[in-house]
Amino acid sequence: MLLISMTTQEMRTYQCEACGYKFKATRLHKICPYCGKEGTVKPVKDAETILKEVDQENQGGYQQ
Ligand SMILES: [Zn+2]
Repeated sequence: MLLISMTTQEMRTYQCEACGYKFKATRLHKICPYCGKEGTVKPVKDAETILKEVDQENQGGYQQ
């Protein structure tokens, strides 16, 4: 059974370091949608994101 149909656009959590505004988006915003400052938005590593990264490492996606 295949239920996955939206794999191309992955929602991630981002947070503005200037105002602390947290939001979800499919890609990194250069400008904070709340305070309008530039370069303050950083991806937030929530539990879900960390689990996904561990998954990728286990699949041998990285080589040194
Ligand atoms: Zn902001």
